[in-house]
Amino acid sequence: MTARWFRPMSDAELAEAAVDLFRREFDRGPDGVWAAPGRVNLIGEHVDYAGGLCLPIALPHSTAAAVSPRSDGLIRLRSTDADRWDGRLEDVGPGRPAGWAAYAAGVIWALRENGLLTDDFGGVDVAFVSAVPIGAGLSSSAALECSLALALAPEADRAKLAAACVRTENEVALAPTGGMDQAAALLATEGHALLLDSASSSVSQVPFDPEGLTLLVVDTRAPHRLVDGAYGDRRAAVELAAQRLGVGSLRELADLGSDGTDAVRSLQDDVLRRRARHVISEIARVRHAVRALHSGDFGELGRLLYASHLSLSCDFEVSCAELDNAVESTLIAGALGARMTGGGFGGSAIALIPPERVDEAIETVRSRADERGLTEPAFAMVTASPPARRLI
Ligand code: ADP
Ligand code: MG
Repeated sequence: MTARWFRPMSDAELAEAAVDLFRREFDRGPDGVWAAPGRVNLIGEHVDYAGGLCLPIALPHSTAAAVSPRSDGLIRLRSTDADRWDGRLEDVGPGRPAGWAAYAAGVIWALRENGLLTDDFGGVDVAFVSAVPIGAGLSSSAALECSLALALAPEADRAKLAAACVRTENEVALAPTGGMDQAAALLATEGHALLLDSASSSVSQVPFDPEGLTLLVVDTRAPHRLVDGAYGDRRAAVELAAQRLGVGSLRELADLGSDGTDAVRSLQDDVLRRRARHVISEIARVRHAVRALHSGDFGELGRLLYASHLSLSCDFEVSCAELDNAVESTLIAGALGARMTGGGFGGSAIALIPPERVDEAIETVRSRADERGLTEPAFAMVTASPPARRLI
């Protein structure tokens, strides 16, 4: 049996597929086609709500939006991955509509709320085609939002577009996410990871070109689990730990170095102590990773990836059998490092691995998943790719 892959589409393939869908659905051609990528976070997980740092790259997998404006107040949305949705501009607002249309129509609402779209905006027809796996923790939602946001307000400042897309996700789709996904989709650049500081909302580019190594993404395709409470629970623990330690956010302690680590040790409650230890140590690991990338030390980056995984698995307790299998199996096969990426409990993992070890790594992940009765994973080899852009 051959391995299951999720392949990127080239810009030309994406544009053609989006134009085809648009023509089929709307009996005319689009005015243009825009695209935005998914992302993987190299390191810096579950620290955004503690004012931490993260380091995503844009994926070669993108979502394309073929778009034409209307003048009658209608919004018509099509996607190869979802049911048709037709509505009116006034149908869109906080918490509505439900379902996938929230992520697309919500962009129009958020752009208007944030003053990036004029009041005389008259509606739009959109056809989406995506190469980003949906719900795999690779940020198909932000890819969808950002492709449309750039189409509707191509001249706007990209950081402002990202903020509007975060509002879409938080206030219309009612998904509690930080700003990493949208920042990566709009602001990451080819050959670089994006260092994002949640405390200041500042971003900078860090070279990411692991020459001679492959970054393998493993989409575990783990079944959806009822873990809705887990994100809120972890967030509450991180906030309570900060409160007990008398700081506004754990970032303040992370910035103190070993004094911050000592302060965390003073927490009496074992669970709170472990949650806080993850946050403080993860922020330190992002800083080390940035230094390792600047000096091209991928051995060190690999060690940091695995340390991050152990911290997420043991201290923060957000991993699962599928993610642990992806990490352990790639390490057994010779990866320099590997970790779960994204919120956890499923989704995807990454491994930094010599190219001649990739086949063995994939086979090891697959056979051990099979032995354990886990879903067959899917794979992609990725590089730090371009951000949102106009295709035609
Ligand atoms: P992720 O962003 O990690 O893929 P999310 O749960 O944040 O997972 O977002 C997935 C949701 O985004 C889907 O359930 C759907 O509502 C919407 N979505 C993303 N991409 C598409 C698409 N191409 N077509 C339709 N809906 C999409
Ligand atoms: Mg998402």
